[in-house]
Amino acid sequence: MQPDVVVVGAGIIGAACAEALSAAGVRVTVIDRGTPAGGTTAAGEGNVLLSDKPPGPELALAQASVARWPKLLATLRDLLGSEQAEVEWDAKGGLVVALEHAEALAEFADHQRSAGVRADLITASDALELEPNLTPDVTAAVHYPDDAQLQPVLAATTLLAAVKRRGGEVRGDVAALGIRPGGLRTSEGFLNCGAVINACGPWAGQFSERVGAPINIQPRRGVVLVTSHTPFTVRHKVYDADYVGAVESGAADLQTSTVVESTRAGTILIGSSRERVGFDDTMRVPVLRELARKAVRLFPGLARVPVMRAYGGFRPYAPDHLPVIGPDPRVPGLWHATGHEGAGIGLAAGTGQLIADLFLGRPPVVDPLPFRVDRPEVTPCT
Ligand SMILES: Cc1cc2nc3c(=O)[nH]c(=O)nc-3n(C[C@H](O)[C@H](O)[C@H](O)COP(=O)(O)OP(=O)(O)OC[C@H]3O[C@@H](n4cnc5c(N)ncnc54)[C@H](O)[C@@H]3O)c2cc1C
Repeated sequence: MQPDVVVVGAGIIGAACAEALSAAGVRVTVIDRGTPAGGTTAAGEGNVLLSDKPPGPELALAQASVARWPKLLATLRDLLGSEQAEVEWDAKGGLVVALEHAEALAEFADHQRSAGVRADLITASDALELEPNLTPDVTAAVHYPDDAQLQPVLAATTLLAAVKRRGGEVRGDVAALGIRPGGLRTSEGFLNCGAVINACGPWAGQFSERVGAPINIQPRRGVVLVTSHTPFTVRHKVYDADYVGAVESGAADLQTSTVVESTRAGTILIGSSRERVGFDDTMRVPVLRELARKAVRLFPGLARVPVMRAYGGFRPYAPDHLPVIGPDPRVPGLWHATGHEGAGIGLAAGTGQLIADLFLGRPPVVDPLPFRVDRPEVTPCT
């Protein structure tokens, strides 16, 4: 059966778009030139965060996503059964701590509250009660009860399983090569379809050039340390207040800021670095050392815990730090859903819904204008 839409890229974003479209009865095929969920999604830590976003369009999309994830997961459980739809969702909440600059943290939380985020300023001793293994050097903290976590590969493969269950197709090892009238040219032949969604993550810029509608998406490198099984659990997603500065910065040079969280497997993930070095995947010891040093500063007990492995990935970065979601006015039938940088796992639920809303002409879940393709930061020549 000919699909209405071909989604190029089977990461969390392509999977979420395909799921939302298939739920609305659209016939979808998803292709990936590699293994589904094997791109940046496999490197994501799985944080679903409001805490790191200042008021603005990205926060609005994050709020829509945080509201949608639990409902979406319930739908997937109904469709696929609890075992197949297990994505390790954990509404554990976030704790942002200041070792210095407590005023800046409080001010940031104030702004977020004005945009409807639950952000509770707590004392250092309250923070230590929430996280007994935290350093006593904490001066202040903000608790974000609505931050959550999931396992990104499980989430993407579950969304794709739902697409298949509804009659859609998911095909690995098929590369998209170009768009022609009536469909998509691929390494496995021509696919007839009415629309193509570019969900190629950090490679979205390359694919967009191939189809004659370039968008400015670049890779932003990040690495994560994984500890062996730890003698203590970090109960929340905990990070240093300087993380927000690193996320918002567009600087190409290295930035590290500590994010520490336990996984259900009993390990601790220590993220993460940010660097624009193209697709250079060299693992550099000074970066790993810096991440470890900052994590030990937050949780001194980590000094005794061995690091089991380190891995990296490429965030899909847009110069204005906003995703690109919607139709491309330059090529009929071409859509983009990409550029989510370090927040694509969290933002996937809202992105899928927004794509489906726009595609079907429904009232959009959030204002789509800030994410439009023809904005100067993304398509400088328009
Ligand atoms: C270290 C690190 C930690 C992170 N932690 C978090 C986190 O905690 N929370 C969070 O929300 N986000 C996090 N992120 C960001 C998140 O992982 C990304 O925003 C998200 O995975 C992007 O998903 P995607 O589907 O757009 O891209 P991808 O997962 O990269 O998927 C794109 C797919 O497109 C395929 N593709 C590319 N070109 C073609 C082509 N021509 N034809 C066919 N297929 C093609 C690729 O093979 C790939 O599978 C992190 C990222 C990194 C690097």
